[in-house]
Amino acid sequence: MARLVMKFGGTSVADMDRIRHAAAHIRREREAGNHVVAVVSAMAGETNRLVTFTKTAGRLQDPREYDMVVSAGEQVTAGLMAMVLQDMGVPARSYAGWQLPIRTDGAHGKARITAIEGRDVLAAATSGQVAVVTGFQGISPGNRMTTLGRGGSDTSAVALAGALKADRCDIYTDVDGVYTSDPRVVPRARRLDRIAYEEMLEMASLGAKVLQTRSVEIAMVHRVPVMVRLSFADPAASAVGTLVCDEDEIVEKLVVSGIACSTDEAKITLVRVADRPGKAAAIFGALADANINVDMIVQNISEGGQATDLTFTVSNADLERAVRVLEEARNEISYERLLNAHGAAKVSIIGVGMRSHAGVAQTMFRALADKGINIEVISTSEIKVSVLIDAEYAELAVRALHTAFGLDAD
Ligand code: ADP
Ligand code: ASP
Ligand code: MG
Repeated sequence: MARLVMKFGGTSVADMDRIRHAAAHIRREREAGNHVVAVVSAMAGETNRLVTFTKTAGRLQDPREYDMVVSAGEQVTAGLMAMVLQDMGVPARSYAGWQLPIRTDGAHGKARITAIEGRDVLAAATSGQVAVVTGFQGISPGNRMTTLGRGGSDTSAVALAGALKADRCDIYTDVDGVYTSDPRVVPRARRLDRIAYEEMLEMASLGAKVLQTRSVEIAMVHRVPVMVRLSFADPAASAVGTLVCDEDEIVEKLVVSGIACSTDEAKITLVRVADRPGKAAAIFGALADANINVDMIVQNISEGGQATDLTFTVSNADLERAVRVLEEARNEISYERLLNAHGAAKVSIIGVGMRSHAGVAQTMFRALADKGINIEVISTSEIKVSVLIDAEYAELAVRALHTAFGLDAD
């Protein structure tokens, strides 16, 4: 007997047939004697539809009302899932985020969970009733609805699993696990049986959207075993999947276990910035004050100590604002020219095996050179190497690296 949190994403609850299919997975686990808490997303496409409404509602985009609108999709699915379960003879009831409550900070649209009161859902689960909880939703210190950022139901589920001390959090989705690369981009990608928390964290934050980054952070901190699995699989059988777990639990470690790609990258270069202490602080301070996240940064060595070029990346959505901020701060920073461009891609190789293997970056650069792909910026950490390239070559680069690191399925 185990305590399980089972999360179903948008495509897994896209219509009534899919909700019934998902409910059959819940029934299987419950009939096996497990205590189950379910977390559901909005039906596929529903959150996008609601976001579009808010854009046409008025010029004043009140973030509190935005959250009120976009959190509604999850409520529909939670109620429907509870009804379908009851119809199958499985006792069930729905919970909105505020009914637990799932408390968050007040950062509307991308709130962070601060505390979860899980007593009621735990009592329900222990008594054999399935608690169906809305994903994505929370409640702010001021008692307003909040949402956890796009893809946030993963975070609801993992945080709930942590709070309830669940034995496992199962993430049911439209793929049967975590692959060496996005299977939609790399047809020869392979499913991994296991992936370490650290690797999954890098994969998610570097572009693999199979799990929301914050959900992996929480799983890692609270040591929640997370299993990514296919919801369309036969509910009569407990299907395979990928276990996201501690590095020590992985016997066969790959040097590179995944390749991720993000095409949401814009590049800014400041040409001939005065080479004096305080200039980098002025540049990145101005951007931070405007709430703009900077990702990769390179600074050239200056000739004669006079001036240097500085290149960095921001998300496409922030590019225009970043340029405005830097132009306004031009006198303080003092640079000659500002160059900027959309359309860059960040391609990354990830693997805990890199810690103990030399020559990994060299293999990466060679594979890209062989395809004639130019590297614009490089950044590394202990378990990843990322390069910035022209977005036009992103898919070619991902496939070439997949082959170069021996990840292709037979
Ligand atoms: P859900 O609606 O269930 O939350 P998502 O669409 O958010 O599902 O995440 C699943 C998708 O993530 C898959 O359809 C797949 O295309 C994509 N994906 C990206 N990278 C990977 C990867 N490395 N392994 C598996 N899936 C990936
Ligand atoms: N429905 C929300 C979204 O589309 C949350 C989620 O599905 O995880 O972003
Ligand atoms: Mg998702």
